[in-house]
Amino acid sequence: MNNVPYNRWRKSSLLGRSNTAFRRIPVLIAVGYAIVSMVWIAYSDRMLSVVAGEYSRYLELQTYKGWLFVAASALLIFFVLRGAWNDIFAAYERSVESERRLQLALTSASGGIWELDLTENGYSVDFISDDLVRRLGLPSGDRLTIRDLGERCHPDDVEEASRKLAEAIKSEGRQPYEGRNRLCCHDGSYRWFYSRGNVVASPVGEPQRMIGVTLDIDDLVSAEETVGHLLRYDPVTGLSRQRKFLSDVDAALASTSPGQVVAVVQVRPLDLNRLVGDIETLEDAVLIRAIGDRLHRLSGVIVSRLSSDVFALATAAPATPAAAQHVIRDALTTFLEPLPTPDGSVKLRVQAGGAVGSAGGETAIGLLRNSGHALEIAERTTEAAARWFNEQLGDEFKARNDMVKGLQSAVSNQEIECHYQPLVDLRTGKTAGYEALARWRRTGDRLVPPDEFIPLAEELGTIGEIGEEVLRQACRTAVSWPAPYPFVAVNVSPLQLEDPLFPVVVARVLSETGLSPHRLELEITENAIPKDSEVAMWRLQALRDLGVSVAIDDFGTGYSSLALLSKMPFTRLKIDKSFVAGNGNYHENIIIVDTIIDLAKNLGLSITGEGVETTEQAHLLGERGVDLAQGYHFSKPVAASRAAALVSQTWHSGSGDCAATGPSRIARDNRTSGGATRRDYSRLRSQGR
Ligand code: C2E
Ligand code: CA
Ligand code: CA
Repeated sequence: MNNVPYNRWRKSSLLGRSNTAFRRIPVLIAVGYAIVSMVWIAYSDRMLSVVAGEYSRYLELQTYKGWLFVAASALLIFFVLRGAWNDIFAAYERSVESERRLQLALTSASGGIWELDLTENGYSVDFISDDLVRRLGLPSGDRLTIRDLGERCHPDDVEEASRKLAEAIKSEGRQPYEGRNRLCCHDGSYRWFYSRGNVVASPVGEPQRMIGVTLDIDDLVSAEETVGHLLRYDPVTGLSRQRKFLSDVDAALASTSPGQVVAVVQVRPLDLNRLVGDIETLEDAVLIRAIGDRLHRLSGVIVSRLSSDVFALATAAPATPAAAQHVIRDALTTFLEPLPTPDGSVKLRVQAGGAVGSAGGETAIGLLRNSGHALEIAERTTEAAARWFNEQLGDEFKARNDMVKGLQSAVSNQEIECHYQPLVDLRTGKTAGYEALARWRRTGDRLVPPDEFIPLAEELGTIGEIGEEVLRQACRTAVSWPAPYPFVAVNVSPLQLEDPLFPVVVARVLSETGLSPHRLELEITENAIPKDSEVAMWRLQALRDLGVSVAIDDFGTGYSSLALLSKMPFTRLKIDKSFVAGNGNYHENIIIVDTIIDLAKNLGLSITGEGVETTEQAHLLGERGVDLAQGYHFSKPVAASRAAALVSQTWHSGSGDCAATGPSRIARDNRTSGGATRRDYSRLRSQGR
């Protein structure tokens, strides 16, 4: 604002800071000039006649005097006008520049300005930018009237535009006019425009004019429409997306009468990813298009593609629950018909989850949620399955959700605890070590077994935290065990092993708890070892380098190759309990156990037999040179306090050469078991069984 001449002058003016004094400056200059001129005219001639003496000299001096007066006046005019003129010129340049800028801004925003005169009855257009006129396909300079604009406005937009204009005018400048509407161009097509204008009111509040800007937003609106279409329809199949599906289902629900329902089902074709390649090419997949084409042809069913591989179907018309389920089942067969592929055809299998509901009881979103739950259950139970949502499923889901919630804070709430199962040395009958087995003490004191929560923790990604907690507790407890200082075995999830920092975690826990690395064994399930992973091998080697032992757990349940076994730095092999317990064919199991033992011995691994429930089993394992045995025959997993008391226990291993805790019972077991002896196995093996 300092550039404005008025402000600059006012600040420096000797006239002070009053506006009135400033306004009087021109008058003061004129009056001063008039007085000086009059005095000059009145007295200068007299002075000249006194000075000149003769008349000719007087005339000469009078000419000089005239020149002097003109020169003085010119100087005065020059000084007065110079400053003002510079400022006027600068202000003019600024106004030209700002007009140019505004014009440029409006042109680049595809718009123009306009002005309405509101004083006349019915208003009139005072001004409208040529740009706007041209955008309507009219020649430049064409003067549009209010009537023209009203006639050009799309019939659907007229009412709203007039209402908003009237409201803005009524508000006397407090509320601007703002709106978007279509105007008819010269060629008869419509374009979208956005306008915003403000009312200029008189000091008494009378609306005088409205000045505003209008932008051509036709391209923007068509882009919006495209996006809107993409949001409602899947571009690959042309099927509706979730939002549109939900509104269609809500409409169907609204028309249900008592006893009628709408059924919604979510379908996931299996193997889709495998069939069409990786996820990037999935969108182009001919198969998905083919499914979409078939779904389009269904009648009486609302169809949608919810995500890359999940479709949804719903009954378009309300029906009885049985009829609705029937319609859906029929529609589902669409997925099961063979689909053409470049090399023939392929038959898809599907997993489906459905839910039914009626108005008042259910909403589309609720049905979609319930069908999603049913689908999840279907996915978890079998390969290809369909489930309908019911109350029991709802309860199952709630229970799982509660569990998910509880598990997130199980470690911080100190709800994870370890139980310890002795590992008995079959030669000496002494406790050689313990396996730490995790338990979750949930609120209400229920002890949740690991099979129920470890897989969930793996799914949720909290297994790392839980595994570390188990490791820490196990190491801390083991430190407190007296001589002969048994070792502790801790189970490791494959996900923990995938973490490159896992060896660091183990080293930290060992140093924190003070347990010697030689007293820690980590158990890795056979199934969890990647078939050809160098990474897993290096990670296990890093653990071995710490001085920790590594056991391969549940051996016999996976398909480890000999090459893999010899490559991995294992120290122990644990024969899975299913072979020891003699499930299935007893004799066959014995042959398998013998083979595993041979294998382990050839690889130089120590051997533990799991699931030893009888003296006979303990005896058999001991006889075959198995080092350690674990099972209910000796002890079930016990709490930490009880484990400490069992350290010095001598167990009856059944091999006959260690101290017996109950000799008479063991002897009787041996007599009555009719168990196979070494001779029996040799015989079985020679018979090739
Ligand atoms: P596992 O590693 O094979 O552990 C042995 C399981 O067999 C234990 O079940 C144990 O109680 C049971 N068992 C022991 N002796 C006998 C027997 O004579 N007969 C029978 N039928 N069963 C016996 P548990 O404690 O329920 O653990 C189940 C599985 O959960 C474990 O199988 C292990 O794979 C996993 N697990 C336990 N704790 C953890 C852990 O901290 N981390 C991870 N990742 N997994 C764990
Ligand atoms: Ca184990
Ligand atoms: Ca095991």
